[in-house]
Amino acid sequence: MNEIILQCKNIKKKYKKKNHYHIAANDISFELRKGECLGIVGESGCGKSTLARIIMNLEKVDSGEVIFNGKNISNIKGKKLNLVYKEMQMVFQDAIGSLNPKMTIGESIKEYVCSLCSLTKEDKEEKVDKLLELVGLPIEFKDRYPHEISGGQCQRVAIARALSSHPKVLICDEVTSALDASVQAQVLELLIKMKEEFNISYIFITHDLALVSSFCDRVIVLKDGNIVEEGSVYNVINKPKCEYTKLLLKSILLK
Ligand code: ADP
Ligand code: MG
Repeated sequence: MNEIILQCKNIKKKYKKKNHYHIAANDISFELRKGECLGIVGESGCGKSTLARIIMNLEKVDSGEVIFNGKNISNIKGKKLNLVYKEMQMVFQDAIGSLNPKMTIGESIKEYVCSLCSLTKEDKEEKVDKLLELVGLPIEFKDRYPHEISGGQCQRVAIARALSSHPKVLICDEVTSALDASVQAQVLELLIKMKEEFNISYIFITHDLALVSSFCDRVIVLKDGNIVEEGSVYNVINKPKCEYTKLLLKSILLK
């Protein structure tokens, strides 16, 4: 079996609501291996995005550890964190919202390239062109603004930015949820191509168990901040143990 690249150990996180605490992560532990694609599924509000933000150190844990490449990264800051971001990146659901509306696509990608790699001006331009090509967008798109391209194309730009530092781990949080079915398939195809080309390990977060079957090796089912089922995609889909997973599967069949 491949080496472990990322590990969550006993992650706990609760949020204060009006008169109670909401537990978004209740003692969550799992691991991701090199080259593996791990799906995290569960209905809206079960804690998927909280977990992703915790892994990326965009949110503090109440307790527990995120171990990346053997080091606890849950409390690091500044330069040390930037070094982690070179190797671990995230793409969000709201592709248009994740791009600065006042920046052209080229400027947006370049900003990322600049923050993560020290390159000359010409090399940066060349890198932007290469990244656009990699995600299947015409080079002329450099001069367009986010509102001048479609949602699927925006998501390709977000993926290009995330890939600019050659990350080893890519966290995708509902990256295809806002897209039409045909565009969804194209973005998934792009992610599969990237996986094969660069041996990236993925955490693929979705509320749609059907998507997991076409993309992931292993899957975790989350419910109310708890892992209720974990296993190979084949086993979880064909022999689900937990009633909640069975319900999620039924909802796919009803569609
Ligand atoms: P999912 O991505 O699975 O839809 P989230 O992780 O976004 O779920 O949210 C899990 C729960 O935590 C929800 O009940 C949500 O309202 C709550 N939550 C998430 N972030 C915050 C926050 N910053 N402040 C308060 N509550 C939050
Ligand atoms: Mg979410």
